Formats: sequence, structure tokens, C-alpha cells
Amino acid sequence: MLNREELKDLSEIQGKENYYVSLYLNVNPVTNPKGEYVLHLKNMIREVSENTEKGVYRKIKSDLEKISAYVTSNKREFRKGLVLLSSEETGFWREYNLPVPVKNLLIVDNTPYIKPLIDIVDNNPRYLILLVEKDEARIFVVHLGEIVEYGEIKTEDVPGKHKKGGWFALAEPHYQRHIDYHVVGLHLKEVIKKLESFLSAEQIDLVFIGGSEEAVTMFKDMLPETVRNRIKAQFAAEMFLNPDEVLKRAEPLLSVYEAEKEKKIVDELITRALKGNQAVLGIEDVIGAAMEGKIHKLVFVKDYEASGFKCVNCSLLSVRNIPKCPYCGSEMEPIEYMVELVVQRAVEQGATVEVLAYETASLKEKGNIGAILRF
Ligand SMILES: [Zn+2]
Repeated sequence: MLNREELKDLSEIQGKENYYVSLYLNVNPVTNPKGEYVLHLKNMIREVSENTEKGVYRKIKSDLEKISAYVTSNKREFRKGLVLLSSEETGFWREYNLPVPVKNLLIVDNTPYIKPLIDIVDNNPRYLILLVEKDEARIFVVHLGEIVEYGEIKTEDVPGKHKKGGWFALAEPHYQRHIDYHVVGLHLKEVIKKLESFLSAEQIDLVFIGGSEEAVTMFKDMLPETVRNRIKAQFAAEMFLNPDEVLKRAEPLLSVYEAEKEKKIVDELITRALKGNQAVLGIEDVIGAAMEGKIHKLVFVKDYEASGFKCVNCSLLSVRNIPKCPYCGSEMEPIEYMVELVVQRAVEQGATVEVLAYETASLKEKGNIGAILRF
């Protein structure tokens, strides 16, 4: 998974005489229904081959072949943005199959090119979910709608756990309780240490804690204030849940924060558009802005779809049924996936994209889509 630590490692790579090939490819099946990205990749590879010095080309030829083979053989499993970083010379290879779009790029340099990856991490909130019990803890990160488990902390010595009858069936409750809480305390301290080091290494926007109420309360009481202040909410969860179940359990809490964030964006968009202050609403004006390369932030309601027309030659987009492209005079073909195409154009001009999942009502009234402009 794409994370801060990984980006830091990548940023420290210096090839000196070694070369790295970095590919960013829009593989979105919606905008590439016929696998058009294979052709785009071929064109980029040809261009790089022609413009690279012979000595360097010799070094990266096998990287280009490997990348090309990867793209043509993995077609079906792609999502929206594919990122491949390769240096056969040093035995280096990374692949990121991302649920967000990327701008097509093929770059040869002495370091892997990771600026777009940094932007993706910076522009999408990351939530940490900690599940904590008296003898166990698990750390998850939610990013780009996905949950990934990062680690597990098990404290085997917690008494009661492996005895018959379990935790609550101990013979001498008072005495045992003392020992329990001592060991539990050590375990929770260990969890705090792990949590703190994780939070300092990774860019995390919010922390959520799940577990039994008793364990969560104990844990929170032991936390230093700086960490406790970052906890947004807690929820009931059992240790045995799989990551997707954990995400499902935490989702109502995450959505509160997501909705707050969305509301700010929509309010700014609509206010600016109504004042005529570098923002537009509605698909037609958004397309116009995209054609002029002016989009700074594209905002639309999740699942919003629009159809329209695309020039077969210069790819000009239009919602209106015009017989000929006003720009180059070629034919216009009908298309179903206008929003996806606009997203791709926006990403190519360096825009960020906000898909509204919760705060949708006010933008629905204004045409489901809008954009904050650069100028
Ligand atoms: Zn045209």
C-alpha cells in the first residue's frame, strides 16, 4: 500500500549511474474500453526511445520491455491509475494499482519519479484504526476507501487467557485482578509505543479506536494527551473481525468526518460560483473549463453520470449534439462516460478530484458537478 514511509524510502533512492523508469498510466476501464492505454504506452515508449541517449537507452531497454509486458498481460485486474517504477539494473521494481486516476507519464531519470504519488497521499485523508483488547491490538490504515492491516501486537503472558474458562473464570478474583491489570498495563504500554511510532512515521489525519468498552477506556486513560486528542471516536468491535468488517464497523464514524470535509468543499464551490469568483457549476461549463485547462479542483456527486459527444480526432468534448467538431471539423461520436473523461482531463491538468458521497444535496440542485478554477 502507498504510504509515507514507502514514499520516504523511494525519495532516498539515488541511482548515480543507474537509471529508473517511472510509468504513470491511466488504465481506467471506463475511459479505456478497448484497452487504449496499451497504445498510449506504446507511443510513450517510442517517444522515450527516440529521445534518450544511446548509452542510457541500453540501460533502460529491459525496463521498458518489462513494463510493456506487465501492462499487456495484466489488463483485467487494473483499476484507474497504474504506477510502475523499474530499474532492472539495480533489481528494483514497484507497482501501485490505484483506485484514483493518474496523468500519463513515462520518465527516465537517476531516481524514481514519485511526485504524483506524493500528491495522491497528500490529497487523500488517511485514517488510523486501532483495535485494542487486554492482550492484543491491531493497527489498520484506511486510505482511498481501502483498509490495510499494518500490524498486530500480541501479549502472550496475559493470565487467564489460556486457562480453561477464560478471563472471567479465575479462582481468586482480587489477587488475579491485580496481576491481570499489571500485565494488561504492560501490554497497553506496548500498544501505545507502537501507536506513537506509527503516528510519527505516517501522515495520519484521524484516529479511531475499536474494541470492548472496558479495554478502550483503560487504553485511553493511559494515553498521553497529545495522542488522546487525535482520537476522533471509538466503536465496539471484536478482535476476530477481518479488515473489511472493521471498516464497515468504523464507517459511520468516518462518514461524519468525510461529510464535514465535503460540506466545506461544496460550500466554497457554490459560493464562489454564485459570485462569479473562478468557479463553475454544471457539466457544460465544467467541460468548457476542462477544455481550456483551467480546472483546479473538480467536484461531483458520486454516481453522477452524463453522456455527450467526443471529437474522433482531437478529443474535444461537448454535451450538445453538434455534427462537426468546432475546433478541427472532424466527426463527433456519442459517448456515455462523460464524467470519467472530464475527470481524466482534470487530472492531466494537475487538478484534484473530490467525489461527494455524503454532502450531495446542495450540489445535486446545481447540476451535480462543478469546478474551482485556476484563473
Ligand atoms: Zn476536433
